[in-house]
Amino acid sequence: MTFNNYIDGRWVPSRSGKVFENRNPADQRDLIGLFQESTPEDASDAIAAAARAYRSWRLVPAPRRAEILFRAAQIIADRKEAFAHDMTREMGKVLEEARGDVQEAVDMTYFMAGEGRRLYGQTVPSELPNKFAMSIRQPVGVCSVITPWNFPMAIPSWKIVPALVCGNTVVFKPASLTPMSAINFVRVLEEAGVPAGVVNLVTGGPEVGTVLATHPDISVVSFTGSTAVGRIVNQHAASSFKKVHLEMGGKNVVMIMDDARLDLAVEGCLWGGFGTTGQRCTAASRVVVHEKVYDAFVEQFVARAKGLRVGNGLDASVQVGPSVSEGQLSTVVTYVGIGRTEGARLLAGGHRLADGEYANGFFHEPTVFGDVTPSMRIAQEEIFGPVVAVMRCRSLEDAVAIGNGVEYGLSASIYTRDVDQAFAAMRDMYTGIFYVNAPTIGAEVHLPFGGTKATGNGHREAGTAALDVFSEWKSIYVDFSGRLQRAQIDTENL
Ligand code: NAD
Repeated sequence: MTFNNYIDGRWVPSRSGKVFENRNPADQRDLIGLFQESTPEDASDAIAAAARAYRSWRLVPAPRRAEILFRAAQIIADRKEAFAHDMTREMGKVLEEARGDVQEAVDMTYFMAGEGRRLYGQTVPSELPNKFAMSIRQPVGVCSVITPWNFPMAIPSWKIVPALVCGNTVVFKPASLTPMSAINFVRVLEEAGVPAGVVNLVTGGPEVGTVLATHPDISVVSFTGSTAVGRIVNQHAASSFKKVHLEMGGKNVVMIMDDARLDLAVEGCLWGGFGTTGQRCTAASRVVVHEKVYDAFVEQFVARAKGLRVGNGLDASVQVGPSVSEGQLSTVVTYVGIGRTEGARLLAGGHRLADGEYANGFFHEPTVFGDVTPSMRIAQEEIFGPVVAVMRCRSLEDAVAIGNGVEYGLSASIYTRDVDQAFAAMRDMYTGIFYVNAPTIGAEVHLPFGGTKATGNGHREAGTAALDVFSEWKSIYVDFSGRLQRAQIDTENL
């Protein structure tokens, strides 16, 4: 089946006449569909439609915009099972997690629809008599939404829904590995009543993304993906002063102190390290363990990692699905080789799985390296696969120094029963997200999401913080004194 772009309220093919295939990473024989290999001209058409639609959409009262979004949330909830199934087929995460991804889109859409009756500004007293002062959020214009494949419905919802509730219009380019989930989401918005041109979808690669980052009619670029591509997007958008929101890579850490409940920590590290096959920006790819409990932790963790069931995510007994693509799998294989060469001790896994049920997919054993030192590349660089690096520490200070000693700053966590240590770590880890007695994954939609350093550029998505990306503040002064009143000057004569 061939799927089209969605431009100005119509499902249309690319001007290129070309399509690309989307295949199941667990079984390459399974073709999900053919999708449009779009051109820069297709992207420009979508931007023009979004710019036209902005003229009227920005004037629709926010509570009315939100009514459409409430309907959309309900439709997604009603189709959760079908959407999760499509998602597992196209990107491999196990069905239970795909349901969670869809649920996150439901939660975000309800949450942001609620903002339609808030979008709070401030009213403040003026320093002058007979003068009124307030601030309001105003929409920004046409927003580019560029997304990765690892949360194929959740991440688009984090961007598109707040953009819409604020009164902006959108051109959306999903990752080429997960266009089906993007189409499922946009179809829902269409069905819920989003007017023509307000949301546009263009599938394709970097040439489409480049237009979305450079076109003069784009006001906001919201990007989630790798740090390398985020840097390019940022540079492309800089010369025209677009508002750029970047969510990029991570190298997240779980710190396990000597008073931690080890059973809980093991459970958390398994979920944090191997959930979504390690392909989460918040994946717990580093574990730093106090030397007093290092051996005990490693023994339990390795035994449990070896017992994880790898396979096709549509099989309910499977705990770890495939890597998303041949390219991602080869990155994993390369880093396992690097870890060995660097002298880390391979404690579990370490091999590609290619026989029997694995013959047609991109599978790799859940892999644990021990005796890792903080400067090794496997402890510094984002792998984005089922590989966990375990390190020793002597104290909380030591753990925090190792934890902060990477270029990224997305998520971190601590396992301890000592409230003093927990609060010190909360204060000292320079990340955007922090957990106590839980792994590095598990964000909820109503708190800000994002990271520091090479993970982000100071913006946040989710929560009301997302509204700051998709709106601009306007301060308004209304003088009803009937005379000229000069701020900072006429106050002296009062
Ligand atoms: P990617 O950077 O390869 O691609 C992201 C998107 O950018 C895709 O839609 C891609 O087609 C597009 N793109 C590629 N080149 C472009 C260009 N020159 N101009 C504009 N757009 C371009 O990332 P990916 O492999 O899809 O996703 C994995 C990465 O995403 C990981 O690094 C992961 O940490 C990160 N991620 C971060 C977060 C977060 O919130 N911090 C969340 C999820 C994923």
